[in-house]
Amino acid sequence: MKYPYTPLRSPVYTMLLALFIGFTSCVQEDKSAESQSPVATAIPVASENKDSTIPEPDSLNSPAAIPAESVRPAAVIASSTADAETIITRQQVPILCYHQVRDWREKDSKAAKDYIIPEERFREHIKMLADSGYQTVLPDQLMAYLTTGATLPAKPVMLTFDDTNLDQYTVAAPELEKYGFKGVFFIMTVSLGRPNYMSKAQVKDLADRGHIIGSHTWDHHNVKKYEGKDWITQIEKPSRQLAEITGKPTEYFAYPFGLWNPEAIPELKQRGIKGAFQLAGKRDPQDPLHSIRRIIASGYWSSTSLNKAMKNSF
Ligand SMILES: [Zn+2]
Repeated sequence: MKYPYTPLRSPVYTMLLALFIGFTSCVQEDKSAESQSPVATAIPVASENKDSTIPEPDSLNSPAAIPAESVRPAAVIASSTADAETIITRQQVPILCYHQVRDWREKDSKAAKDYIIPEERFREHIKMLADSGYQTVLPDQLMAYLTTGATLPAKPVMLTFDDTNLDQYTVAAPELEKYGFKGVFFIMTVSLGRPNYMSKAQVKDLADRGHIIGSHTWDHHNVKKYEGKDWITQIEKPSRQLAEITGKPTEYFAYPFGLWNPEAIPELKQRGIKGAFQLAGKRDPQDPLHSIRRIIASGYWSSTSLNKAMKNSF
């Protein structure tokens, strides 16, 4: 995929180009992988041959998949925040979701191994990304790209980590930093300080080192089932606690199990969440910023499989 850089200096010319591109993007059919996503539900299904089951949509190589809207930020006037339709049309940035980073144990079930990536394999994933020229982007950059067309690195990727597991702090973050990468850590606050989970000080340290801390609820209950006070317990309080820990506002959220519904979105927005991340389901046509897609980087995947999955799923 390409994120074309528009080396134009003349503001008038750039505006004309932006208008033209804006027009073409309106009529451009969305041929992204979303509509053909192999994962019908948000929960990943364990399969034996994960490496080869994802069909390759041929549209990914066609010019239609290239985001013509990627004009330079300077060319975007402040009021020109893109509408949902435009956001959906933009080429998606590959976003990976990791959970535990540790070697497999005998009692780990077959299904659990999608969520547990052995250390060496994780290192291979990250090295492959670096060797392939990928650069990590953070949620603010992604939002700027989606809402204004701001440019991103030529090969952007976002690395996200769910569930507060301690090995994300001890193994994953240092590995990312070897390559100048930054990650996004979605914390469930109930687990802070528990054995094998991160402490508040560790979360604060990640934030201080330039990683982003997002919320993953209080105790991982399914957002689709919230009513009444659940919004306070699961969304409001954890956001506040994380902001107190990091000294920064909590603006990003990951749905437990990747599960969400349109009713949840206004509740999240009302509580300061600018962007919410699901798994590989279809995005909300009305609110793609609160249904951003990610894929689980399975513990079964070699770096080659990961590379393939990234190209096929976004
Ligand atoms: Zn989770």
